[in-house]
Amino acid sequence: MSDHLQIKDWGLGLSGHTIIAGPCSAETPEQIEKVCLEMKNQNTVPDIFRAGIWKPRTRPGLFEGIGEEGLTWMEIVRNILNIPITTEVGNAAHVEMALKHKVDVLWVGARTTVNPFAVQEIADALRGVDIPVMVKNPMNPDLQLWLGALERFHKVGINKLAGIHRGFSDSYDKRFRNKPNWSMPIHLKREWPGMQVINDPSHIVGNREGILETAQRAINFGLDGLMIETHHDPDNAWSDAKQQVTPARLKEILSQIDFIDNTVEINPDEHLNDLRNAVDHLDDQLLDILQERFSMIDQIGAYKRERHLTVFQSDRWKYVMESRTKKGVAKNLSEKFMKELLYCIHEESVKRQEKQIREAEPVKKA
Ligand code: PEP
Ligand code: MN
Repeated sequence: MSDHLQIKDWGLGLSGHTIIAGPCSAETPEQIEKVCLEMKNQNTVPDIFRAGIWKPRTRPGLFEGIGEEGLTWMEIVRNILNIPITTEVGNAAHVEMALKHKVDVLWVGARTTVNPFAVQEIADALRGVDIPVMVKNPMNPDLQLWLGALERFHKVGINKLAGIHRGFSDSYDKRFRNKPNWSMPIHLKREWPGMQVINDPSHIVGNREGILETAQRAINFGLDGLMIETHHDPDNAWSDAKQQVTPARLKEILSQIDFIDNTVEINPDEHLNDLRNAVDHLDDQLLDILQERFSMIDQIGAYKRERHLTVFQSDRWKYVMESRTKKGVAKNLSEKFMKELLYCIHEESVKRQEKQIREAEPVKKA
């Protein structure tokens, strides 16, 4: 699955990291002209210009996009900035109009990625078309759904594919509009080696202030570019007014980010090799200890089976969880990590013991 091209190879991402910028929505020809002129005057021309033409709004009654007319204004972008243009498509009719107006790159929004019927409809409309497609993560942190959407495009012959991490809906965490989950883009890259993932800090933070910090984190993790909503007059934008930045602010953000080159292969020197050997040795020890621990677990399982006891004992679990978490935290391991580790080990223990009971001869009643 590694045969797709990278954004830099598409001839689109000119900088080391692909920068995509432009307004949340295309509103008027004047707005498109103003934002392009300001980008040009500020000398902050992105690799790709974004503008939403059809807007998937959570509630009805808000601005739902200008529609096909807005695609005719993309000529203005070409005249002023001479860069490729991307827009969101949500169904086959959008695809048809976007292709008619020569949009260079398409993206699929988070609300569409969750729906395999819609994704398949868009993919079918693209069969035989050579156009790059970027797929935003679904609203919920479901890696299979994200991968599945990318696969649907791959299957119809689209090989210029990228993901966009725009965060996940989480009604409890008010710090973010859509909470980032940095494991997800990394899992995606593990599952599909070579897959490029752009980060969209605008939809993650939902305000202007947090963009720089989130964008920097994305670069630190090794993501491949940024999509930042940019408007000449953000306060009066017709959608996502709170999170859009001016071209001048975009310039500032991009100049403050430390763009760590994610294409550099580590060339291990002696020091790094020594450290890695030490880690290999510790991992061996960790595995020996786990092997020993599970052998004890099996003996306890046999004991429970003989005494006709249930596998899960909540008092014991509570004690294991609390005591180990406390010890772990004292050793500078985070509470979250300790809990996840203990859940993982305990779950495996419980499964092993239940299997022992299931596979053993039934206990004979006296
Ligand atoms: C957008 O990029 O304007 C958009 C609607 O994004 P998302 O699908 O991430 O909500
Ligand atoms: Mn938006």
